[in-house]
Amino acid sequence: MAGEGEAVYLSARGHGAGIRDLSATTSEELWAAHDREVARRRAGKGGKGGKGGASLLDVKAELAQRTLSSCRFCERRCGADRAAGATGVCGVGATSFVSSEFLHLGEEPELVPSHTIFFSGCTFRCVYCQNFDIATRPQEGRPVTPAALARAVMARHAMGARNVNVVGGEPTPHIHTVLGMLQCLEVNTPIVFNTNMYMSGEAMRLLDGVVDVYLADFRYGNNECAKRCSFIDRYWDVVPRNFRVADEQGEIILRHLVLPGHLECCTDPIMAWVAEHLPGVYFNLMFQYRPCHLAYEYPEMDRSLTADEQAKALELAEFYGIVRR
Ligand code: SF4
Repeated sequence: MAGEGEAVYLSARGHGAGIRDLSATTSEELWAAHDREVARRRAGKGGKGGKGGASLLDVKAELAQRTLSSCRFCERRCGADRAAGATGVCGVGATSFVSSEFLHLGEEPELVPSHTIFFSGCTFRCVYCQNFDIATRPQEGRPVTPAALARAVMARHAMGARNVNVVGGEPTPHIHTVLGMLQCLEVNTPIVFNTNMYMSGEAMRLLDGVVDVYLADFRYGNNECAKRCSFIDRYWDVVPRNFRVADEQGEIILRHLVLPGHLECCTDPIMAWVAEHLPGVYFNLMFQYRPCHLAYEYPEMDRSLTADEQAKALELAEFYGIVRR
């Protein structure tokens, strides 16, 4: 954030993938080259191929574009042919829409000022969504190209942004746009992926080596609450798995928004899991829940947290040795 190190995407862009013609290479060959070069890079080894060949970042961007033809960026795995104009559950097409982008001063202190890019559309359907105006409208705002986004990032960087913070809605359906933006970017700035952590395994592989910080929500402690409140299947099978992968890839700022009536079923098991698997992680315990959107239809969600619930969440954090920030 201080600009003293190199953003990881720059290293992926400087790492040769040993492929001269991306369009003539099958997806299986691209994935094989991708995984081989990610491993080599992690081991501190140089890339393959000389000047003029594709970089690891180019391979990631190409694979993301191909994924659009049968989308599986998130674990809903709709298979929608977004390249041909179809949409899946998130409703996001091949072109990304951005509702706003600005220097955000309200994120965690270590991140601000943060160049926050709000992509429209989301993979979740949270009944209490506080950003429902953009999350439920995938074409809210204006359509963007990767090159135009890169120009905006460079302009905000010159204005003092300490990072690029891609959010929404949810950035996962826009991975192809984010990778394309990084191909055009010419500044050393960390990439913050502000996410619900419901990415597919393939998406996590594509993000490996380009994301510096996962600014990651951990919301539910079981599958049933996620289904009832966000219409998501297999939450507990996917999200803890992705946290462990993210921990190997980069840094994590974990956000837990305490939900009313969900201390025993969600806050408690999340803290227990974090204490066991991510001890010492940056843990932001958030009490700012307000009933929004459709929360009035869910009696237990149609209120703010009580003082007792906040005190109980703090007790749990102390019990599990959670280091709160
Ligand atoms: S990102 Fe959207 S289209 Fe792709 S799998 Fe997820 S919900 Fe479906």
